[in-house]
Amino acid sequence: MAVAAETLRALVRGSVHDLCVPGHEPALSPPGRPAEGKAAPCRRLFKLLLQGSCRFDCAYCTLRNSRRDLSLTPEEAAGLFLGMQARGEADGFFLSSGVGEDTDRVMHDLVETGEILRRRGYTGYLHLKILPGAARADIADAARVADRISINLEVPSAGRMSEVAQVKDYRSDLLTRLSWIREARPFGHTSQMVLGAAGETDREVYRRIAWLYGRMQVSRVYYVPFRPLAGTPMESYPPAPVWRAWRWYQLDTLVRTYRLGPADLETLFDGGGMLTNRDPKEVLAEQHGPVDLLTAHRTDLLRVPGIGPRTAEKLVAARIRGGIRDLRDCAACGVNLRRAGPHLALGGRSPAQRPLSDFVR
Ligand code: SF4
Repeated sequence: MAVAAETLRALVRGSVHDLCVPGHEPALSPPGRPAEGKAAPCRRLFKLLLQGSCRFDCAYCTLRNSRRDLSLTPEEAAGLFLGMQARGEADGFFLSSGVGEDTDRVMHDLVETGEILRRRGYTGYLHLKILPGAARADIADAARVADRISINLEVPSAGRMSEVAQVKDYRSDLLTRLSWIREARPFGHTSQMVLGAAGETDREVYRRIAWLYGRMQVSRVYYVPFRPLAGTPMESYPPAPVWRAWRWYQLDTLVRTYRLGPADLETLFDGGGMLTNRDPKEVLAEQHGPVDLLTAHRTDLLRVPGIGPRTAEKLVAARIRGGIRDLRDCAACGVNLRRAGPHLALGGRSPAQRPLSDFVR
């Protein structure tokens, strides 16, 4: 049976606030730079809610406390996606849902949709949302059928959750489920933080995401600046600045890819525990002063803008071979001299004091 257009529109619209794959973070990259992360696993991701009602009461969400009869069966959702795929309109599927009255039933339906797709020969990208309060067995089933699974923490702590939601239990509904997700799909699951909804500081967010990447083996965290939505209790609250999410994607790279820890990163936060609107790596480089290319440890090299993990490794390897004699050798290792130059020293001399022509081949 065809799905009513109005139902479909509402269920597609309800899914847009959930980020789920690299490259699908709309307008969240600093101007002139691509979003951080690997290429998206699909070009046209179809995002959909299976159910458009929710028994939870997150104050920023339009689905909160809703009892609307707005849902698809697993057959309908799978058929809808397969039709789009056959017409070339989608090559990846992200399926989420409001929690509804019966978490287990909705979770079963999410998994069942994935199983129908696989039975019908779909081998492409499939991302299933894990609902707060989901059963351990359902999480294991979702991990088996999907390429990615995720649960959204949205806020960094139980205390912050109590600012925006009274029904959801941060420890039981989210953190316990997260540990089951890690067990079922280590490094194959993601999460999302809403920035600015609960009055949280960036330092609080940092401590939570360091734990997510370290202990919970999360593969990726996405960041969404809070937007007041009409019809919610927070509709008159000020939106979070978009730059806050840009800076979080930059800081996230330092945690996730560069593996910098609290000793390196805690100095990024101001007296109120917030990030400033500057590239965190530029801030770190200024705080620490010039790094000597001939003697610096790999971690110190990583703090220099224009030097990433691969370049730092090449520099260290070239140094061992005696291959770093001047800035041209650095450029050959991949150092972006325009960005890195002001933060580098070479054998005790600051290249920043030399003419720009020295930095560019
Ligand atoms: S649990 Fe999710 S869908 Fe339900 S109210 Fe909270 S944010 Fe909205």
